Amino acid sequence: MFIKNVSLNDGTTIPQLGLGTYRLDDDSAERVVSEALEIGYRHIDTASLYGNEAGVGRAIAASGIPRDELYITTKCWNSEQPEARDALGRSLDRLGLDHVNLYLVHWPAPARGTFVGAWQEFENLKADGLTTSIGVSNFLVEHLDAIAAVSDTVPVLNQVELHPLLQQNELRAVHAERGIATESWGPLGHGKVDLTADLPSLALLAERYGKTPAQVVLRWHIQEGLIVFPKTTQRERLIENLSIWDFEIAEHDMDEIRGFNRDERIGAHPLEGNWD
Ligand code: NAD
Repeated sequence: MFIKNVSLNDGTTIPQLGLGTYRLDDDSAERVVSEALEIGYRHIDTASLYGNEAGVGRAIAASGIPRDELYITTKCWNSEQPEARDALGRSLDRLGLDHVNLYLVHWPAPARGTFVGAWQEFENLKADGLTTSIGVSNFLVEHLDAIAAVSDTVPVLNQVELHPLLQQNELRAVHAERGIATESWGPLGHGKVDLTADLPSLALLAERYGKTPAQVVLRWHIQEGLIVFPKTTQRERLIENLSIWDFEIAEHDMDEIRGFNRDERIGAHPLEGNWD
């Protein structure tokens, strides 16, 4: 199964499409990740918050796939920011790995005042080989600026809510200037958007391409240069979401999807995400 790789600013590459695991418990993560790896997925996105790193790890171990063919991302939760080394150690233990490919600061949680210190520790974790790359999630430009003020290491990417209703154009322009890739979380609308009902013209567009609305949206992300990892527990949808490399959305149809933007968030605003 073909999956395109994209280059990151530290010389590494990442599969542009992977599998998200939010709201999967250990057992369902083990089952879904096993199926996904068997189907051809090689990039898995998890987080200590999701409580499923052990299940993800069991699926990786059982797959027999060489470690260097897999791309594993996990994230440092807000309350873990003051002890990022211990937090990554616990994540690695649960995953059964000696390193992850990418470690992310999950939220800036600015009211806690600890994300800049966490980033400085992330640089040490990278230097020690516990994670190959380091990046951030849910950062606004002001948070990118705050780490740039103390660190020469530019995050390889920023993982933010991004889908047709929230296209993050201004933030993406800043990313492009600074060499930061953009990952789209909630690429299909986080399970809270009915793509066909909310965007009726998307259904027509999908029909014209002989694809499902989900496939057209995922292909739109890909052609925009974004990195995606839609979540599903269903085998048919795992296959459907991966089957987006055999068609190309024409530029005028890309423009139509760009026109769906309403700057409408479904998830929390980064300034509000200060939870324990
Ligand atoms: P998503 O946009 O991937 O949507 C998931 C929903 O879409 C599910 O309800 C699923 O049933 C449905 N779906 C999946 N494939 C479909 C298809 N082919 N047709 C129709 N419906 C389909 O939302 P998500 O899970 O929130 O985001 C993806 C991943 O992003 C998460 O699993 C997680 O790994 C990551 N994430 C990160 C953050 C963060 O703060 N960094 C926040 C949320 C999610």
